[in-house]
Amino acid sequence: MTRDWRALPSANSLWEATAEPARDFPVLSGEQQADVVIIGAGYTGLSAAHHITKSGLAPIVLEANRPGWGASGRNGGVITAKFRLSFREIDAVHGRAMAKRMYEIAHESTDMVEELVSEFGITSANLTRTGQVKAAHNETTLKAAIDEANWMTREMGSAEVRILDKRGVRDETGSDSFVGGVLNPGSGGIHPLNYLRGLADGVARRGVPIFQESPVTKLRRDKDGIVAETPQGAVRARQAIIATNSYSDLTGATAQMQRTLIPFRSALIATEKLPRNLAGKLMPTGRTYTETKRMMRWFRMVDNRVVFGGRGAFGKQDSQSAFDALRRAMVGIFPELADVTLAYKWSGLVAMTLDSVPHIGRLDDRTLVSMGYNGAGVAMSSLMGRYLAAYVRGESPDLGLLDVSRMKAIPFYPLREPAVRMVAGWYQFLDAIGR
Ligand SMILES: Cc1cc2nc3c(=O)[nH]c(=O)nc-3n(C[C@H](O)[C@H](O)[C@H](O)COP(=O)(O)OP(=O)(O)OC[C@H]3O[C@@H](n4cnc5c(N)ncnc54)[C@H](O)[C@@H]3O)c2cc1C
Repeated sequence: MTRDWRALPSANSLWEATAEPARDFPVLSGEQQADVVIIGAGYTGLSAAHHITKSGLAPIVLEANRPGWGASGRNGGVITAKFRLSFREIDAVHGRAMAKRMYEIAHESTDMVEELVSEFGITSANLTRTGQVKAAHNETTLKAAIDEANWMTREMGSAEVRILDKRGVRDETGSDSFVGGVLNPGSGGIHPLNYLRGLADGVARRGVPIFQESPVTKLRRDKDGIVAETPQGAVRARQAIIATNSYSDLTGATAQMQRTLIPFRSALIATEKLPRNLAGKLMPTGRTYTETKRMMRWFRMVDNRVVFGGRGAFGKQDSQSAFDALRRAMVGIFPELADVTLAYKWSGLVAMTLDSVPHIGRLDDRTLVSMGYNGAGVAMSSLMGRYLAAYVRGESPDLGLLDVSRMKAIPFYPLREPAVRMVAGWYQFLDAIGR
């Protein structure tokens, strides 16, 4: 085990270290034909490939790196039936029917993960549905969390949420830092990279060609459809799906989509395996746990290691100071971890949108898109694959606020990084003064 955790390479992920071996896919060379060309092999692209195949059509998946290189291989593996925008906010602005439809979609998404894991027999994904505790760091945020939970029970018929007092949260987390919280039993956890690799393997076994290290450098219309060009080949298809999320600017072909997103770096650290007596004391209920802070941090126990996540560095690179801040936050909540060595640290980009929900739909007669999961995309991107297949078949599913017609370009796009810094600074200030 590394003693000086600061010396760990920054892309050193627990998931990479513990995942099933990655299957090798070929590089695209020469020209191929498909009904649909899918750009990006994360959950969105692979789930779309699966559902399109089930519709009797032939997709091809092109991935710039290896499947799972993007957010789908690096995330926290927390599975929740929610959007960044709360159902209560949706209800207040868009009315009851919209809130109910969004609630349905959110719950379809967690069911979709279960369905895919079961369909492809991905046991290594270790999917659990043990629930999530939202732990409040002060009375103001506790009251807001309880109000929200009561509203959900009353108005959305969400019978499952449970309110916890200080002792209840201490029993759940093993930490004394919280004044109370709310338990949502429908949530869960997963090994995100094994889930991704299981999907890639399952889809490939059903005959879908997946090409890795095959970045689409140009996407152009021709008279019969659309052509996706890579450095050594091309796919001619009738329709294309852009499934590149917060990595849409890897090449110019999809860079225009990045203008609808604010990329925000999210970072994770994981401890070495804890001694059994300590592991047994922390998070004994085996759920996932989040804070009520605006600059939310979250944690879970995976194989006797604490995995702790939150805001990463601003900008394109990781920074040690962001990992240091995460470690301090973790030790603040669990002082017992002060002398515990960190074994892993890594980060990735989440894609925020102006209205805090993802967007899916048809950009034109040949191009479809789904992206902007606002850091809550493990389940949602899995579900969006099924809806992308519906669009490919010519259907127009009711997806409420997710409809692509609501997707907006970010105004003053070149200023997005300073703007993110400013908003994050303001949120940290509000958290610090307990608002
Ligand atoms: C650090 C981190 C923690 C997170 N934690 C959680 C969590 O706990 N729970 C949760 O629900 N969500 C979480 N998320 C969000 C979630 O991981 C994403 O919403 C989800 O994985 C998005 O999947 P995707 O398939 O749309 O995109 P990605 O998985 O990012 O896949 C996009 C792929 O497109 C490829 N690509 C880009 N351009 C091209 C091109 N031109 N040609 C070919 N391929 C291209 C990229 O290489 C990439 O592999 C987290 C995200 C991050 C980064």
